[in-house]
Amino acid sequence: MSYVYDPDNIFARILRGEIPNKTVLETAHTLAFHDIRPHAPVHVLVVPKGAYVNFDHFAAEAPAEEIADFHRACAEVCRIVGIGPGDGGQGYRTISNAGAHGLQEVPHYHLHILGGRVLGPLLAR
Ligand code: AMP
Repeated sequence: MSYVYDPDNIFARILRGEIPNKTVLETAHTLAFHDIRPHAPVHVLVVPKGAYVNFDHFAAEAPAEEIADFHRACAEVCRIVGIGPGDGGQGYRTISNAGAHGLQEVPHYHLHILGGRVLGPLLAR
């Protein structure tokens, strides 16, 4: 496997503090912030601080500590924004786009967490 990471992508610049963001949560290895063009009343992006292009890069090469931190942070975001069913919320959807068919725009791994309304079918047909 070989992945080429562009250190000038917009999320790398957010992680370096060069571009502002509306932070929901920051942990040792993870940053979560509101999407600038939300597709739902709740639309949070969760990104690892490490340089990973997409989900399969992160899952294959990140240390276990970073993977655990990332997923715990995702669950904490759901709790913070009030959509986690385990905390009485109404639920959510997570999405990760990768590559050309996934229509990934920003080449730094991120998970979209969407909620705040009924989200409709998984995909347009
Ligand atoms: P994707 O197509 O999965 O790569 O999604 C990239 C997401 O990043 C889109 O939903 C954009 O609205 C969002 N986005 C792009 N620039 C920013 C930014 N500066 N702050 C927050 N979200 C952003």
